[in-house]
Amino acid sequence: MTPKTFHGKITPTDIASSLYAHFHRGNLRVQQIMDGNNIVVQIASRDQTQSGGKTGVSVSLQKVEDGVMVSLGKQAWMGIASSLGVTAFSVFRNPLNILGRIDDIAQDIENIQLSDAIWDVIEATAKNLGAGFEFSERLRRYVCAYCDTPNPMGEPRCIACGAPLGTSQQQTCQFCGYVLSSNSNVCPNCNKQL
Ligand SMILES: [Zn+2]
Ligand SMILES: [Zn+2]
Repeated sequence: MTPKTFHGKITPTDIASSLYAHFHRGNLRVQQIMDGNNIVVQIASRDQTQSGGKTGVSVSLQKVEDGVMVSLGKQAWMGIASSLGVTAFSVFRNPLNILGRIDDIAQDIENIQLSDAIWDVIEATAKNLGAGFEFSERLRRYVCAYCDTPNPMGEPRCIACGAPLGTSQQQTCQFCGYVLSSNSNVCPNCNKQL
């Protein structure tokens, strides 16, 4: 499961609130662990959380310069008083930690369906806030062809080297929001053909 980046006026809190509203009901439970501007939201069934040592789907929401990077993984349900801080911190330190456990989840149909539903809610939330995989107008930048410096929109010359700016506008992957270098044909994040 590839991390996705939503660009625009969207925060980890927006997504966490939306996930809570959608999933904290019926047989599902939601909890969130804060770490500064970042949030981990865990979603699991009541049965899973009560039988101890079980896992839920973890949604890692990391604030990035112009939006939020979201990754999903499977992780032990964090007990309120247990090693919660440590676990949450290691997730933020290395988001690949939780992605590496995704093979476990592949055996679990229920969790796969839950993951799909989670992405649906996240993408709908982003859309409602005007955020998406493309840079918003406000955030578009022109990358200098000579020195690779991103320049603010409307700047006639590169702020770093003074070269005239052409049409080399910085792009994002339309499938996952990854910020691409100017001449990629394949997204290095989700491996899709562009
Ligand atoms: Zn330049
Ligand atoms: Zn991509």
